[in-house]
Amino acid sequence: MQRPILAANWKMNHGPSDARAFMRTFLAHYARRQDRQVILFPPAVTVTTVLAALKDRPDIQVGVQNIYWEDKGAFTGELSAPMARDAGATLALIGHSERRHVFGETDAETARKVAAAVRAGLIPMLCVGEKLDERESGQTEAVVLRQLRAGIAEVEPHAVGGMLIAYEPVWAIGTGKTATPADASAVHAVIADALRSQVGERARSVPILYGGSVNRGNATALLSADGVDGLLVGGASLDAEGWTSIARA
Ligand code: PEP
Repeated sequence: MQRPILAANWKMNHGPSDARAFMRTFLAHYARRQDRQVILFPPAVTVTTVLAALKDRPDIQVGVQNIYWEDKGAFTGELSAPMARDAGATLALIGHSERRHVFGETDAETARKVAAAVRAGLIPMLCVGEKLDERESGQTEAVVLRQLRAGIAEVEPHAVGGMLIAYEPVWAIGTGKTATPADASAVHAVIADALRSQVGERARSVPILYGGSVNRGNATALLSADGVDGLLVGGASLDAEGWTSIARA
């Protein structure tokens, strides 16, 4: 396994003032480590604040939570990939379940966003995951594979090799329910197989993260599961001390 990736998705939390306080606490307690990669996904208005706090800590990367697929123009309220890159972000979350299920983002739109991120030099972290009814009706694999194949449809195989995937079952996000390590491993194996059949050996370099109610109590067990290359953490990443202990998991 590559070094594990610990990623924090702050969602619509922590504006610049909160983020400054968070970063002071986090950086005071989280020393640079070679054996893991930490990524923060703050709200877009907070990216430059977080990057300023990280000026002596290039070991930590910063991404945006969403992008639009056009580079610029009359798209009020949207954020383009080149702009995010210009602000210093190096990654973009794409297809997070809240984008899909609160804002109605489609598979085709995630594909355009992944392509836009790649064009701009941002690393896409494509999120996939099934809803509870889909899980209960035995469709987990079909849903995850549909979202995965659609999400990478507009980029070349070599670009897929530079992406990250996050498996986030929708029923586990923000609910306090997590997939068991065995369940997560099973779906990660399906994703890894599908990637191999789409892009061959390049799939080996694609980390697959698990997300969904990860907290400091379950992070180590989930991270130890077969095929789990990292964790994407929402609610439990908001508290700097809690996040610090997850980042050290
Ligand atoms: C997320 O937002 O990606 C997430 C996994 O949220 P939570 O950890 O709160 O379930």
